[in-house]
Amino acid sequence: MTNTTKNYLIERGIKPSLQRIAIMDYLLKNRTHPSADEIYQALCESIPTLSKTTVYNTLKLFAQQGAALSLEIDEKNIRYDGDTSIHAHFRCKSCGEIIDLPVDQVNMVDPKHLEGFVITEISAFYKGLCDKCNHEGSLMQNKSIN
Ligand SMILES: [Zn+2]
Ligand SMILES: [Zn+2]
Repeated sequence: MTNTTKNYLIERGIKPSLQRIAIMDYLLKNRTHPSADEIYQALCESIPTLSKTTVYNTLKLFAQQGAALSLEIDEKNIRYDGDTSIHAHFRCKSCGEIIDLPVDQVNMVDPKHLEGFVITEISAFYKGLCDKCNHEGSLMQNKSIN
């Protein structure tokens, strides 16, 4: 895995330091769209020399180089995604989970409106209640009615 991650970084023009490899590894293995803080908390024990600033700067670099996506779906934190393929996101307002949604149609905007434009990024964010929270909510409502 480490070697694959190393090559992944090199292919994207990123010098693969041990800390960068560890952060990228974490992103590739954890598809939970973690924030910089979460990644720092997860890695600081195994890498005591890791600083929060390094994590922030590394994630910024990853996003710049196309190694990860930075998502502005959460009002409080930028979240990062190791899956850079085109997909949409759903953020549950109740549990905060960010769920990947496959898209069947890449052209969300009629291409004729984009003539002459260069598209570097497409993101689609959906917000609301996930199936689980929606279900729990209706259960609670039923209880209070009874
Ligand atoms: Zn939820
Ligand atoms: Zn995602």
